[in-house]
Amino acid sequence: MPKHIYLFFGPPGSGKGTQSDRIGKDFKLPVISTGELLRHEETIKSALGKRVAKLIDQGKLVSDATIHELIKQRLSLKDTAKGFILDGYPRDAEQLKDLMSMLKKTDKIIAVEIKIPDKEVINRLSGRRVCDCGATYHIVYNPPKVAGRCDVCGKKLYIRHDDKPEIIKKRLVDYKLASGPLLKYAHQAHNLISIDGTASVEHIYEDLLKRLENQE
Ligand SMILES: [Zn+2]
Repeated sequence: MPKHIYLFFGPPGSGKGTQSDRIGKDFKLPVISTGELLRHEETIKSALGKRVAKLIDQGKLVSDATIHELIKQRLSLKDTAKGFILDGYPRDAEQLKDLMSMLKKTDKIIAVEIKIPDKEVINRLSGRRVCDCGATYHIVYNPPKVAGRCDVCGKKLYIRHDDKPEIIKKRLVDYKLASGPLLKYAHQAHNLISIDGTASVEHIYEDLLKRLENQE
């Protein structure tokens, strides 16, 4: 059996994290997130972790070379023998080409794009409310029992900086700039599955499973 590698793409708020986690559990494949890998290196205070912490402190981006090093190291672990799922990587066409250079010709790449209109992204993210205790709510889809207060600890809820409408719009522009050429490349080189991300989590997952079966 060739190694199966699943790549998930979608704007912020598309629910791609939820869907990729479920695929990971059901297919018994590790879900690899660059964000988590970076946090792990910082926690264990590795040389790379210290370098990354310094960059983030200075407000700089982690370079593609560093990400490459991190991914390569992670893909050498045994749990990726049957395949793996990538979340948050590759971010652009350059990173996708870089990933390809780490894979074998026999590896099967399946790219999944979860599509949701800009308006829906803004609705979803701007309605999100968080608490310092880690609980998250949504004013429409998952409201707290008392408006503005956390069900768990009673503290006042707030809007994350990233979820303010003007910031969301900027995140969307950034996503489109980076993902446009990436999706085009994925579409030309592999099978790209496009999923309607406006349905319920259950419905999206069913749709996704069906489409993945057709890939086999
Ligand atoms: Zn709380």
